[in-house]
Amino acid sequence: MKIAIIGAGASGLLAGGFLSREHDVTIFDKNEKCGKKLYITGKGRCNLTNDCDEERFLANVVNGKKFMMSSIHAFPPKQIREFFEELGLPTKVERGGRVFPESDKSSDVIKVLQKFCQRCKIKLGEDVADIDFDNDQNCFKIITAQGIYYFDRVIIATGGKSYSATGSTGDGYKFAKKFSHTIVEIKPALVPIEVKDKFIKDLQGITLKNVTLKATIDGKKLEFFGELLFTDRGLTGPIALSMSSYINRAEKVELSIDFKPALDENKLKERCLRDIEANKNKSMSTFAGLFFPKAVGKVVLERLKIDGQKKVNSFTSKERQDFIEMAKNFKLSYGGLYPIESAIITSGGVDTKQVNPKTMESKLQPGLHLIGEVLDVDCLTGGYNLTTAFATAYACAKNMK
Ligand SMILES: Cc1cc2nc3c(=O)[nH]c(=O)nc-3n(C[C@H](O)[C@H](O)[C@H](O)COP(=O)(O)OP(=O)(O)OC[C@H]3O[C@@H](n4cnc5c(N)ncnc54)[C@H](O)[C@@H]3O)c2cc1C
Repeated sequence: MKIAIIGAGASGLLAGGFLSREHDVTIFDKNEKCGKKLYITGKGRCNLTNDCDEERFLANVVNGKKFMMSSIHAFPPKQIREFFEELGLPTKVERGGRVFPESDKSSDVIKVLQKFCQRCKIKLGEDVADIDFDNDQNCFKIITAQGIYYFDRVIIATGGKSYSATGSTGDGYKFAKKFSHTIVEIKPALVPIEVKDKFIKDLQGITLKNVTLKATIDGKKLEFFGELLFTDRGLTGPIALSMSSYINRAEKVELSIDFKPALDENKLKERCLRDIEANKNKSMSTFAGLFFPKAVGKVVLERLKIDGQKKVNSFTSKERQDFIEMAKNFKLSYGGLYPIESAIITSGGVDTKQVNPKTMESKLQPGLHLIGEVLDVDCLTGGYNLTTAFATAYACAKNMK
């Protein structure tokens, strides 16, 4: 069979390598190089999968869990790791089961995938403008600026819409729409959160470890524990990015930080009383510094309208209670998410109800397949998004008839 793959990214290259063992495969990419997005993954180190079982993988899928069940069982994370090892890429496992190349170089992941695709014709710098089904010739027609080509099968592996300089500009949605596919509205995911409060600028650059970010999302509560970073206009870091994937479709979001998740209110009150006793003659700003990083302590006192120069022994019980409340429930005014351009992953995409989860074949157009981020599947960080790209590509390649 003559097969076209649009996109030489993570999913396109993996599918191409497998299919070229039996078929005549052509891969098109608009970039001059393969795997431009892969190159920037994991801050240039490429967290290619996770050392986990299928159940844990599925627990980290935000949208598309049911759809992913079949393909993740066909190509589970352990097998993905073995596959790369067999291609000649030694790997290592880091915190949270994250799998990286031993060399810490995403370019090595691209190299082995390109070698895996040595039997494919790879047409770089060739932007696919349109796809059609030619009823007379009973095959697909692919149109680029360089020419018109005919294929028996087409695989759309064009990625999502984030970091568009890497080539993923959302063309796949346009192609899928042509074949009557529904596109679930695109939203940024794994992206920093904007905060409207003016004080946020004063907190820029601060990293908090072991805090809880809490949200009420259209009435539902959700929280993440871990590391949080303040930017000039909001929040980033692992727990903010995870939270973004759950609030990107919400109407109403309330956010707060628990700076002391290990202590309940009573324990925090006891600690507060002990610290007041031991620091009676110190200033309130010194006291606040015992609970928060300096700049955060300053903002806390300002929000409570407590003079930082005031002595601790003049702390009223009302002020103490408000101080504790601020430590446990530091409210932030949600201002939306950063734009899709800065998102690690696209939420939304081709509706998975219209795609066969075993073969990735369109249920609307026989012979058309869709794999990777173009689908309405998104996961949390930890190597799960590339796992999705690889698992859907494998299922497509292994089951193509
Ligand atoms: C900064 C960043 C860091 C990330 N880090 C990680 C990580 O460490 N671990 C992880 O699991 N995930 C990570 N991700 C997510 C991961 O990169 C994507 O989920 C994955 O690359 C999706 O694979 P894909 O094959 O679907 O699409 P892509 O890898 O985006 O490939 C799509 C390809 O299609 C080509 N293309 C698009 N339209 C056309 C057209 N019309 N004609 C020709 N070619 C076209 C593009 O040029 C592109 O090369 C990260 C994402 C970003 C932005």
